[in-house]
Amino acid sequence: MTFRTRFAPSPTGSIHVGNLRSAIFPWVLAKSRAGTFILRIEDSDSERSNQESIDNIIKSLSWLGLQPDEGPYFQSQRWVRYREVAEELLAIGAAYWCYQTKEELDILKNEFLNQGYNGQWRPMDGKILPPIPLDVKPVLRFLMPQTGRVAWQDAVKGCVSFENQELDDWVMLRSDGTPTYNFCVVVDDIDMLITHVIRGDDHVNNTPKQIHLYQALSKTVPTFAHLPTVLDGQGNKLSKRNGAKSVLDYRQEGYLPQALINYLSRLGWSHGDDEIFTVEQLIDWFDLAHIGASATKFDEQKLLWVNTQHIQKLSLSALVQQLENYWHNNDKAYISQNFRTSTWEEIANHPRFLKMCALVQTRCTKLRDFFDWYDKICRRPNLNQQELQDMLSKDSRIVVAIDDLLLRVSDLHADQVELPHITDIITHCQREYALKMAHFAVPLRYLLIGEKQSLAVDDLLVVLGKTEAIQRLSALKDYH
Ligand code: GLU
Repeated sequence: MTFRTRFAPSPTGSIHVGNLRSAIFPWVLAKSRAGTFILRIEDSDSERSNQESIDNIIKSLSWLGLQPDEGPYFQSQRWVRYREVAEELLAIGAAYWCYQTKEELDILKNEFLNQGYNGQWRPMDGKILPPIPLDVKPVLRFLMPQTGRVAWQDAVKGCVSFENQELDDWVMLRSDGTPTYNFCVVVDDIDMLITHVIRGDDHVNNTPKQIHLYQALSKTVPTFAHLPTVLDGQGNKLSKRNGAKSVLDYRQEGYLPQALINYLSRLGWSHGDDEIFTVEQLIDWFDLAHIGASATKFDEQKLLWVNTQHIQKLSLSALVQQLENYWHNNDKAYISQNFRTSTWEEIANHPRFLKMCALVQTRCTKLRDFFDWYDKICRRPNLNQQELQDMLSKDSRIVVAIDDLLLRVSDLHADQVELPHITDIITHCQREYALKMAHFAVPLRYLLIGEKQSLAVDDLLVVLGKTEAIQRLSALKDYH
């Protein structure tokens, strides 16, 4: 069997981390079985759908690398097809026009609460229907069986079944002629030859209605896999309303697409104890059978940890590529006000850029962090005079020791500014003036990059190189 899966978002908002697995899992299932992944925009509700959301969906998938093999298809362009299937269902007696007004329906609903629609327009053998009112625009209803049950073997939830009498004759075409979700989704999944429907478990209640429609049309019912809910820290369903961030928010903050895919797939699916894996490994290992059936909690800290692991695993060239993508995808003012007028070429061609990246790679949790480091290492830091003064006044020997260091670095040939050599000089000055390493390193580091803690000073001197290191250390002269 050729696997054909789909992601079928309604464009009524941006894709967020609560619903992203409905895209990742069908994509990865298709990739793991040499199948086809389809994108279908479910914009049948024209009032709630909007272009901004469509753009957001396409951009989010493209950034994550979840490109569809087919589509996007748009439901709004398939009206004629839905009408055709509606006619077919009418012709075989599986659907009927219902002229009941909204007011009448409200009364019915109150009387037969939860018993489903069984109104006067439902055709039955020997029943005489009332005369058609001229002033009511009818809806088209699907004729559901009223006895028996409908069941399916869900790939995640196991056997799920519903009593047919709990289900009403649902509306397929509204009174304005527009088709409803349950109707479009089945016509689309049939026409698009979908073999696996993977979606959030908020659709479980729709599935029995949809299965009856497949059966009425004599079509094979696909495999359904309903994904358990993703919860926030408080145990509520993660949704836009309670603060779920959109995929593009994570892009902006500097998450790697592979980290987001790794973390979200691991949320509810597992391959032994593997926590960190590549997209290729996910494709190799993925199996619907290993998706857990219970709800899972989204943990932003864990996602950050996963992102850090992925950043650390990047080769230098892959890291630079990610930084370039990040640069082009985001608003420069968001990255930092200092980058408003910079170009990527200026950044990437900076003589210290590559060394800087390699040096801080193990310290960055997000891509954005690299640009903060760039500010300190490739540009000059902004020093706070009072702070520097306080550090220097702790011990009068600090200034003398730094002066000595400055002289020794100045005496070096440019290509001697390498690690063992620089480490020796620093250790020598510290011992010579009997300074504790911490007392010596803190002001030194502050002069070099405007930070008291963080990178080792010998590494910093090497990355800065002779001329720049001398320039920065010389700032000391202004303070004594
Ligand atoms: N359009 C539906 C939604 O965004 C998904 C429908 C489906 O996957 O069957 O929730």
